[in-house]
Amino acid sequence: TDEMIRRSDKLSIAGELAAGVAHEIRNPLTALRGFMQLLQAKKTDYVDIMLMEIDRINYIVNEFIGMAKPQALHFVRSDLRTLLDGVIVFMYPQAILFNVEIKLIVQSHLPQIECEPNQIKQVYINVLKNAIEAMQGGGTIEITMYTKPEGSVVTRIVDQGVGIPQDRMEKIGEPFFSLKESGTGLGLMVCHRIIEAHDGKLTIHSVVNEGTTLEIELPTALR
Ligand code: ADP
Ligand code: MG
Repeated sequence: TDEMIRRSDKLSIAGELAAGVAHEIRNPLTALRGFMQLLQAKKTDYVDIMLMEIDRINYIVNEFIGMAKPQALHFVRSDLRTLLDGVIVFMYPQAILFNVEIKLIVQSHLPQIECEPNQIKQVYINVLKNAIEAMQGGGTIEITMYTKPEGSVVTRIVDQGVGIPQDRMEKIGEPFFSLKESGTGLGLMVCHRIIEAHDGKLTIHSVVNEGTTLEIELPTALR
């Protein structure tokens, strides 16, 4: 459909842009942060603010990393469960901070998939971060993993967060579209692009004040 074409055009332009931006920003940023830390010994409030701003830029660049090497995709057979477990451990401190419990229900004998493991981890990080950030009052994130008969593995992430208003749904996933005060609006765009590069599907259903269900479907590896 027209809508699909328009979206994937946008994604590929954004992707090329992202690759350039990520590479160009990282090196000077690292150098700047180092010098700033040296200055901090003299202890001025300005330096603290500058360090925070540098960390914010770094955070934005990190959200891009999943798509920073568009040509150098290296697909390997991977166990999705193992990738997700690693990300959950990594996200644990943030979950605790937000009073969020993560429940995991995994079908036994999940087949492997062909993927670029770091990119899939990036997707899990970005969507879990969104789920946690949506639950300011705490709650439970329920993640289920199961296979579909047509040969794919689904990761379904259900949160009990604020949800997304229906009239905003269409814009979600566009570069820089965020409903958060200090959001980047890059996380989901990166996810869409990565899942697309894996011939997968990412779908979102949401009900305001009830929660959001996000499904990531990835084709299983051929035997
Ligand atoms: P950011 O998180 O920086 O705002 P994202 O691309 O990750 O950017 O998400 C875009 C927007 O989609 C968010 O600002 C938020 O409004 C909405 N969103 C994404 N995931 C969820 C979720 N699990 N619950 C509620 N809103 C969400
Ligand atoms: Mg986000």
